[in-house]
Amino acid sequence: MEMRGCKGGRIDGLIRYLEGGVSPFHTVDMAAEEFAQAGYRELELSGSWMLERGRGYYVRAYGSSLFAFRVNPGFGRLQGFRVAAAHTDWPCLRVKAAPDMAQGAYAKLNVEIYGGPILNTWLDRPLSAAGRVTLSGEDCFSPVTRLVDFKRPVCTVPNLAIHMNRDVNKGIELNRQKDMAPLVGRILEEGSGGRDGFVRALAAEAGAAPEEILYFELSLYNCDRPELFGLDREFLSSPRLDNLTSVKACVDGLLEGDSREIGVDMAVLFDHEEVGSRTKQGAGSVLLPIVMEKICRSFGYSDEDCLNSRLRSFLLSVDVAHGLHPNQPEKSDVTNPVFLGDGVAIKTESCQKYATDGEAIGVIREICRANGIPCRIFAGRSDVTGGSTLGSIASSFTVMDTVDLGVPILAMHSARETMAAADQEALAGLLAAYYRMSGERRR
Ligand SMILES: [Zn+2]
Repeated sequence: MEMRGCKGGRIDGLIRYLEGGVSPFHTVDMAAEEFAQAGYRELELSGSWMLERGRGYYVRAYGSSLFAFRVNPGFGRLQGFRVAAAHTDWPCLRVKAAPDMAQGAYAKLNVEIYGGPILNTWLDRPLSAAGRVTLSGEDCFSPVTRLVDFKRPVCTVPNLAIHMNRDVNKGIELNRQKDMAPLVGRILEEGSGGRDGFVRALAAEAGAAPEEILYFELSLYNCDRPELFGLDREFLSSPRLDNLTSVKACVDGLLEGDSREIGVDMAVLFDHEEVGSRTKQGAGSVLLPIVMEKICRSFGYSDEDCLNSRLRSFLLSVDVAHGLHPNQPEKSDVTNPVFLGDGVAIKTESCQKYATDGEAIGVIREICRANGIPCRIFAGRSDVTGGSTLGSIASSFTVMDTVDLGVPILAMHSARETMAAADQEALAGLLAAYYRMSGERRR
């Protein structure tokens, strides 16, 4: 197998995101920083935008979503947008308010389950905590927010010894409240890290007094490092492949595919895909059409121009796909399986869990063919209910041609997932070509 992915900077860049994207807020921050360094200017979401052709911009929305776009030099009336979207969130444990609990000499954390993780893969991991803390500010309506990352293992959810459950290898059901509470410390004496020990440690991380904290949104994340493995190091095992592979490919693609003359090229990072997307910062938000309209308005285009521009636009919904499992091949479709290393998976489902339609697939396959990018059509087994993603939700009201695609992985929603390193090259290459290639969508 060719090793492009391992030798170039592509996989290093991905690993940097996998290590740094420890909460949706941190992922947005990292991407914003990369766009800023590339000369993109930051805009305020509710500001009046005076945009210039030939420039790039980015705008953060609610801390965990981001829109980055480049207005190409010849952007004119009725020209479409090329958009690619990925999600910043991943299934995990989230720390609840007043999280400190005691069990004898042990300090534990009260957590809830975010999205659909494979719970048993979260046991016995070195877990850290990262996210956003809201602090008192000068104006009640503008509290101060601060990102925090403990950056070191602070807790673990221990398994029960096999001696205490001899049937464990027959499979067990973990209770989301009782069995997933992490061990975070020892209570040495009353008042020394007992009932509020975690909150006090969090305040110290945030550089604030505990009483200044109005609220916090913290993900527990797996501190395991990403590792290349395989006889030729052709695979990458890492936490958070879903969906930082796609986030990084969207960022790289937009920054690299910068030679198109017309239209607007945009990368969007949405939060809340793992819980259904129907939030103000999720793909079910009207924010994408609002941002597109603000861009058109900034150039003085009329209502109808804005609508027509949108109707000529194209959306890639970029998210991971299910690769064929080496020990459970019967779980994949009989004629449309995708193996790790096959390149980009174009996801199809006639009941529209994936938004992909025939014309839109045609567009993407032609781009792949013209640029020598490996890709394969994915379909699920008819008797297995697959997942869905943000594509169908966003395309229903943005009304854009949409394709769902992404790299194939194993063990989706495990605390560690596996992909082929070379597939990141294919995905980022496709995104760059998508933004770069000439041609217009008409309907
Ligand atoms: Zn995903």
